[in-house]
Amino acid sequence: MATHRSVFDAAELRAQFNDAGINPQFIPSIWKYVLQNPGCELDEIPDLPSSAYPLLCSKFKPLTSTVHSVLHSTDGVTAKLLIRLQNGAFVEAVIMTYDTRLGKYGGKPRPGGPRSTLCISSQVGCKMGCKFCATGTMGFKDNLRSGEIVEQLVHASRLSNIRNVVFMGMGEPLNNYTALVEAIRVMTGSPFQLSPKRITVSTVGIIHAINKLHSDLPGLNLAVSLHAPVQEVRCQIMPSARAFPLEKLMTALQAYQNNSQKKIFIEYIMLDGVNDEEQHAHQLGKLLETFQVVVNLIPFNPIGSFSQFRTSSEQKVSEFQKILRGTYNIRTTVRKQMGQDISGACGQLVVNLPDKRYGEKTGLITDIEDLRI
Ligand code: SAH
Ligand code: SF4
Repeated sequence: MATHRSVFDAAELRAQFNDAGINPQFIPSIWKYVLQNPGCELDEIPDLPSSAYPLLCSKFKPLTSTVHSVLHSTDGVTAKLLIRLQNGAFVEAVIMTYDTRLGKYGGKPRPGGPRSTLCISSQVGCKMGCKFCATGTMGFKDNLRSGEIVEQLVHASRLSNIRNVVFMGMGEPLNNYTALVEAIRVMTGSPFQLSPKRITVSTVGIIHAINKLHSDLPGLNLAVSLHAPVQEVRCQIMPSARAFPLEKLMTALQAYQNNSQKKIFIEYIMLDGVNDEEQHAHQLGKLLETFQVVVNLIPFNPIGSFSQFRTSSEQKVSEFQKILRGTYNIRTTVRKQMGQDISGACGQLVVNLPDKRYGEKTGLITDIEDLRI
């Protein structure tokens, strides 16, 4: 039997509707119904043209992926969804719900309930091979289809009110460009209606993709995993830097910023003795002088006992931050410890629990803390 495609595979659904002469204006109402009734069958959706039902049922499924398990962190801030794709592979998505009571609402709960950020995966594994990254050690397994990317939002929306989406889960989003663009267009349209400025794509720096990103997806936030201020150090920790040299990357980013007029987020993972010295902070400050950026310093989350890297001390991180802020006037934040459990753990779950052992293991896991190795 041919495999059914996700009804959230927008291009496929549109093409099939087009061939069958069905008006594509019905598509958002199909998505809305599935979003509100994730367990439904497609022939239950009301008010579609009669020719749509046999087509939908023979070629599509409401959801092709399933939530295998949900792990809640002890502080209740994060929930990690382990999602099983139609082909049996696993990816993860993480929901982060910030405590808005402490923030701008003066101790009162936020009107309309808490808002969450969803961290999404774009690939199974990743071919970029960054030396500090768990997903990188898996190698590349597969690209997610656009529908599989959107389905992560559908699953997460059942658990939380998702306001922001970040592509910081497994994989390099710009290496799965067509599916990424298609998925984001679905997310920003009806019925999801996420504002593009609430969507952030994080990339290691795929230059040819950055060059067309703004015209394909205007208004989006771009985060760049820079991690080193000079080519030599970057090559040491990120093999892909050879194919995408720093100088060319910065030229592409300058053009992106000129076109988009938006600030760029710079991610910088702090590795003890590798990229966290005073000189690196000055080099980074100079490199970013002509840009509007926010630098996010990320405490390295050790990926098992094989890791060749150590986490920078808090003092080193704060000195680094002080130089960027004080000498170069660059907005610089430090990712909270909480982040180590979520984005830092990118790919970790899947790597640690291979498919075969998974069934027996999951029953035991009640909390994200239990995953520590
Ligand atoms: N491929 C994209 C997006 C996924 S990685 C990219 O690299 O930007 C998302 C973020 O998680 C990146 O900034 C990456 O540097 C960070 N990350 C990966 N491994 C980590 C680790 N062991 N500790 C902390 N952050 C890590
Ligand atoms: Fe891939 Fe990003 Fe991990 Fe590098 S950090 S291996 S680009 S997922």
